[in-house]
Amino acid sequence: MSSLIECEDVWKVYRVGDVEVQALRGLSLTIERGEFVAIMGSSGSGKSTLMNMLGCLDQPTKGCYRLNGIEVGGLRPDELAGIRNQQIGFVFQSFNLIPRTSALENAQLPLFYRGLSLKDQRAQAAAALGRVGLHGREDHYPTQLSGGQQQRVAIARALVTSPSLLLADEPTGNLDSQSSREIMGILEALNRDEGITIILVTHEVDVAAYTAREIVIHDGQIRSDRWTKARPPSSQVEVEI
Ligand code: ADP
Ligand code: MG
Repeated sequence: MSSLIECEDVWKVYRVGDVEVQALRGLSLTIERGEFVAIMGSSGSGKSTLMNMLGCLDQPTKGCYRLNGIEVGGLRPDELAGIRNQQIGFVFQSFNLIPRTSALENAQLPLFYRGLSLKDQRAQAAAALGRVGLHGREDHYPTQLSGGQQQRVAIARALVTSPSLLLADEPTGNLDSQSSREIMGILEALNRDEGITIILVTHEVDVAAYTAREIVIHDGQIRSDRWTKARPPSSQVEVEI
């Protein structure tokens, strides 16, 4: 079986007027199912560009990116949207919840796009809120929730479609240290107990410490890639062969 994520010599070049920015410069990377990975690096090093590409929000300028064995580079926008909806959950630094809309309705949204009945949408969204410890807060609006609770709603929204891959770009960047620990505890449990592959971007060493692998990006290339905890079984098999 193919790896979940395979990047081979991936380039991303942005053109703004006459200026060309090489945000990713020949990056190669493999991530297996079930991994918990932190991507680190200074501002402007290409972390968000990489996450957008891994999440099929963007395509490489050059090189090959395969997700679940499918080459993303050749897909049409509607096919990319289909992959995002079926396979990927996103969590952002600024939560990106819809204001004046309840926690339940926010968590329901991806299911609405899937065309589920309202009853199923509500039941599955309520279950997802329960998984992140927000049982009883279904009717609260974002303004009635703390930052940590809003990020939990965002995680519930990302989880509600049962994605195989969760991508989080600085998920604790707007949170105090206690809320950060809670959010990382939730992500750690989702990875450990449900086997969801999680890739997150962080600046903070103590956030990265929850993960099992730290990849440092510098100028659009991988500067270091190291295991900080035991590799998951699938990778161990690969090493032994
Ligand atoms: P990071 O997330 O590590 O801070 P980014 O991936 O956002 O870095 O950016 C990497 C480089 O690409 C930076 O030089 C940034 O200015 C540039 N960049 C990012 N997005 C765009 C875009 N949409 N258009 C032009 N340049 C961009
Ligand atoms: Mg960024």
